Amino acid sequence: MKVELVNTGTELLLGDTINTNAAWIGQRLAALGIQVSRQTIVPDGAVIRTAISEAAQRADVVLVSGGLGPTNDDLTRESTAELLGLGMELNAEVMQHLNDYFSKRGKPVSLATQRQAMVPHGTVVMPNLFGTAPGLYFPAELSASQGWNAHIFLLPGPPRELKPMVESQVEPRLRTWLPDGMSRRVLYLKVTGVGESDIVEAVEKQLEAIPGLDLGYCIRNGDVDVRLAGPQVAVDEAAVIVRAALGDCIVSEDRRIIEEVIVQMLSDRGEWLATAESCTGGTIANRITDVSGASRVLGHGWVTYANEAKHQHLGVPMELIEAHGAVSEEVARAMAEGALKHSGADYALSVTGIAGPSGGTPEKPVGTVWIGLAAKNGETWAQKKFSPGSRDRFKLLTSQAALDMLRRRMLGIQPR
Ligand code: ATP
Ligand code: MG
Repeated sequence: MKVELVNTGTELLLGDTINTNAAWIGQRLAALGIQVSRQTIVPDGAVIRTAISEAAQRADVVLVSGGLGPTNDDLTRESTAELLGLGMELNAEVMQHLNDYFSKRGKPVSLATQRQAMVPHGTVVMPNLFGTAPGLYFPAELSASQGWNAHIFLLPGPPRELKPMVESQVEPRLRTWLPDGMSRRVLYLKVTGVGESDIVEAVEKQLEAIPGLDLGYCIRNGDVDVRLAGPQVAVDEAAVIVRAALGDCIVSEDRRIIEEVIVQMLSDRGEWLATAESCTGGTIANRITDVSGASRVLGHGWVTYANEAKHQHLGVPMELIEAHGAVSEEVARAMAEGALKHSGADYALSVTGIAGPSGGTPEKPVGTVWIGLAAKNGETWAQKKFSPGSRDRFKLLTSQAALDMLRRRMLGIQPR
């Protein structure tokens, strides 16, 4: 089944609005085993009609977003009706919805808004629970007049209106149109701590031999997503190979990122984490607190940037810092152990390093970092890492390595 997207809106072309609707729809359809075959972005105006007509000639399903609102530049509804030669008629249900919507807000329904209740003949109204403009579904019969056979969906532009409509109105229809036995599966294996080229080397030859398997890699935030798509048997076979080759580097198989996995693991075990960060400036604590449920697992997060702060708040002896330098295994260990003691947590992660661009030396070049992990039960781990690059990237990769060290510790596997 061929599905095309037409995203309308001059602001998308100007770069004022990022086309998140296309990304989101792409992911939703991929989960159904459908790969969007083409996306077109067009400005507001007459070209919308051309874009829909071109897409409808190629595709079985055309999803159009934007331009359903009340303003003069919102032309999608009228353009599509004209294209298919359909007259407009007042829809009583939509009118009722508009009346209810505005009376709840103590406002009159403007003339411009009333235009949204005009619906092309023969279309199915898709209610908008989060706004005024209804979506419209043009069953394939309606495009037969043009010699096409495309189902056309008009969806509102604002993501909070579009998403629920796709989930409740579009996806159920797509599912019924998927041919039996054609159902494709997609599995994402999120791998951390291994580079893309090493992954390719480890698995690609074996995976290429699997008939029907569509293999993809996507690097994001220091991780690599290995995407396996195709018939169920092919995906299952491929997953066995990837698990065997990359085993404990696989963070999740359900697209969860490492901080989500960690918060879940800590929460399930009733355990607590504390952080003591220097060069990452709170990035680890920030990532943990991005996850809902973080308050059950993180009680303390220190940012001890200055040596005095490491001493004062974490009890790191000044002599230790003077003897080994702030960026050292000894200080990383002492920071983690200090954070563990002062917080009463089950684990404490520490980070001390040189983010650059200045401050490096030949022995400790920019990008050098020591990560410590103290645990209530057992010895303290410390690892040296090297992540040269921008400060942003340094923080990201270092926090990633620290979180992975904790993940491994909790799973009882060796650090990398
Ligand atoms: P409205 O009733 O709000 O006018 P509409 O259906 O006419 O809705 P547009 O006017 O095209 O939609 O877009 C409204 C807003 O929705 C945009 O200003 C933008 O913030 C957001 N939006 C539109 N298209 C997209 C898109 N492809 N990705 C992300 N956001 C979008
Ligand atoms: Mg609009």
